[in-house]
Amino acid sequence: MPVLITVPAYVEYLRKAAGVIEENKDCITALDAKTGDGDHWVNLDMGFRKILTLADGLEVMSFSEMFRKVGITIMSAVGGSSGVLYGAAYMAAAKTAEGLAVLDGAALLAVLEAELQAIMSRGGAKPGFKTMVDSLHQAVRAYAEALAATGDGRAAVEELMRGAREGAEATRSMEAVKGRASYQAGKGVGELDPGAVTMCMQLVCLGEHILASCLGPEAA
Ligand code: ADP
Ligand code: MG
Repeated sequence: MPVLITVPAYVEYLRKAAGVIEENKDCITALDAKTGDGDHWVNLDMGFRKILTLADGLEVMSFSEMFRKVGITIMSAVGGSSGVLYGAAYMAAAKTAEGLAVLDGAALLAVLEAELQAIMSRGGAKPGFKTMVDSLHQAVRAYAEALAATGDGRAAVEELMRGAREGAEATRSMEAVKGRASYQAGKGVGELDPGAVTMCMQLVCLGEHILASCLGPEAA
């Protein structure tokens, strides 16, 4: 079944993601306390709470306007590396979604790829550096491969979620090259990267939301 995401459906995802982040305060804070400075949850939650206050207005925008507004909001409301990186990701998504009224499977891939490239070029991290890039990169790769191989939205989104989980889990054994964990003696080895975990939570939330309410009818 094909992926078909409207702007109100994407905004509904943002509402759900805000809830997922809010619920995971303790585990995210504990992770960032081990390998960072403990503020990752506070940073992300602040961004999502600000987005929630704007949600009704976001629903009536075009995809591009909505992504741009989310990007600007995150950049101005969220501190730390994640504010700059998620801000850059959503600004890149806005550019890619220019002129699109809905996101089909291929457009979603283009948006996710643009977000990945923006985060990598802004932060200088590559896959394997133990950052949020690891879960996004693995998710995008798995989604792209499944979409190309099967053409099926449901199968591709399931792969997206699997890739995100795998990418986040893989950070446990990585040595940090970027971010605060790279300043620690042990380079965070043995611990999950908090940013990779929260990126995974958002991607899994997006995947579940698409499977529940954004699969269109089969083409006749
Ligand atoms: P800060 O590290 O500035 O306190 P946060 O605590 O909000 O920012 O976010 C930490 C997360 O951001 C890390 O776990 C990591 O995933 C991600 N991160 C940090 N620096 C980079 C970077 N240069 N590139 C990609 N991701 C990064
Ligand atoms: Mg931090």
